[in-house]
Amino acid sequence: MYYSDELIAEVRSRVDIVSVLSRFLSLQKKGANYVCCCPFHNEKTPSFSVNQTRQIYKCFGCGVGGNVITFLQKYENMTFSEAMEYLAPLAGVTLPERDNSEEAKMRTNKKLRLYEANKHAANFFFRVLWDEKYGGPGMEYLKKRGLTDETIKHFSLGYAPTNARGVIDYCRKQGVTDQEMIDAGIAAFSEKNGLYCKFWNRVIFPIQDDRGKVLGFGGRVMGDGEPKYLNSQETDIFNKRRNLYGFNFAKASRKDRFILCEGYMDVISLHQAGFTEAVASLGTAFTSEQARILQRYSPNVYLSYDSDGAGTKAAMRAIEILRQYKVTGRIINMKPYKDPDEFIKGLGAEEFEKRMENAEDSLLFQVHTTEKNFNTEDYAEKTKFHHEIAQFLAQMEDPLERDNYLEAVSKEYGINKEHLKEAVGKAALALADKREWEEARTTGPKKAGKADYMMQNEQLLLTFLLEEPTLYAQIRQYISEEDFSTELYRDVAKTVFESLREGKTPDPAAIISHYEDPDDQSNVCAVFTTQIEDLSGKEEKERAIADILYKIKKNSYEMHAKTRGSSMEDINKDLQEKQELEKLKKIVIRL
Ligand SMILES: [Zn+2]
Repeated sequence: MYYSDELIAEVRSRVDIVSVLSRFLSLQKKGANYVCCCPFHNEKTPSFSVNQTRQIYKCFGCGVGGNVITFLQKYENMTFSEAMEYLAPLAGVTLPERDNSEEAKMRTNKKLRLYEANKHAANFFFRVLWDEKYGGPGMEYLKKRGLTDETIKHFSLGYAPTNARGVIDYCRKQGVTDQEMIDAGIAAFSEKNGLYCKFWNRVIFPIQDDRGKVLGFGGRVMGDGEPKYLNSQETDIFNKRRNLYGFNFAKASRKDRFILCEGYMDVISLHQAGFTEAVASLGTAFTSEQARILQRYSPNVYLSYDSDGAGTKAAMRAIEILRQYKVTGRIINMKPYKDPDEFIKGLGAEEFEKRMENAEDSLLFQVHTTEKNFNTEDYAEKTKFHHEIAQFLAQMEDPLERDNYLEAVSKEYGINKEHLKEAVGKAALALADKREWEEARTTGPKKAGKADYMMQNEQLLLTFLLEEPTLYAQIRQYISEEDFSTELYRDVAKTVFESLREGKTPDPAAIISHYEDPDDQSNVCAVFTTQIEDLSGKEEKERAIADILYKIKKNSYEMHAKTRGSSMEDINKDLQEKQELEKLKKIVIRL
């Protein structure tokens, strides 16, 4: 970040969050706020709310929140600087030119250096592929797979020659250091070989982010070497869980659906056949982060996984992940072919489109796949299978949807509908118990219960302070940032208290800018958007504030007590705090 805090604040304060967000969303005025359906999760009733006074947005469905800059970063995938460049003309502010010294600053930015290193390596691989002398094996392979020159160029495919030093010499000439090559996952070092490229004698698939920058590489070995596919390891810029192969093109295609495949070649041949909405996970199973990315753009995902056992298993897992994000998964039947690449070659794009139209509903796919595990001629096994069906149905949260499936499945398998309904009800209860138990186990009972409760109280207090800044004078002798239960909230409280001490109204949109992590931004946003409902009367509010103050302080003292031993000094401190707490119980707040 090379803009000064003052400049950032100036740009931000001169634009209005409502008018900027209106360029992307259709906001409706509702009460004091503006609302619309959340662009970051799939929903039918609006829970995305923009607060014009505080210049922040918050989704009460998925919890995402931030200011105008973080919105552009999230929604348009801009970098911080790009968001600034976008807003500056709207704010009537001229940004300083990126002069040489700033270039120098950028050069020292490690991430940018890794992107650079990857760009040069990708260039090298691309050039080698088209080189008649060295690129032969790679080009021959790609041609045999039926790719046109145009497709090869579109995906910037390349070839890593058998000489593993070539790319290293090339990158060095472009000013990439050895360490950067190692950090970018292009090269490795060994005592025996010195610095060597990890990819050799492989066709190279550059993996790009949604803006087309190269994050890493996938390499397909020529011949029968192992491993068949080699991927760059994760680096500072390459997170496999958060990226999808082909997504940069699929996003730009603006179709209201995605085709999810297993491999690079599947994506490429689908794109070549006109299905530019195809994407694939990156040599790992499909992840929830990837589901979240897809869900932002479309609720329709078609799976074209391999039709073998492993592919079916992977599809079953992907369906469940997609369902958690309320994405409708449909399964494309590719029989008699194994994968979309073979299918397109065998039956063509038109037939593939037809198969998409007739794609199987994900729940029915799960049921039909599971059926194969049971011998339904045997009564005991048949009963087990019916209970399995009930398990699947129990996962559906929407009762109408559940009923429709119940109807369809009971008809198909000749199951008594009422009996199935009963079994689903039981399975749903068991599932709810299991979820509760797992939640308690993974987050610990404290976090699920008390910690959340404390954070809510802390949020409320800060929201109150924002609404009634004069309140601070009455409570400042009792509370400090040290009383807050998490590091993040201690940090936010510190900033809020500082502004209040200086007689300024805290600026939530500015405070959010202090945090780079999107989760932190959303959490900070929650601090300032806690809904204070049902507190219409002034007295009621006053009592609520006193109560919250007491609870926060009590929790804070309890935390202190835990760290203390049994020395006289410790016991005295405990006692003193207990007395203070008794006093605080009687505090009267006047608004
Ligand atoms: Zn949301």
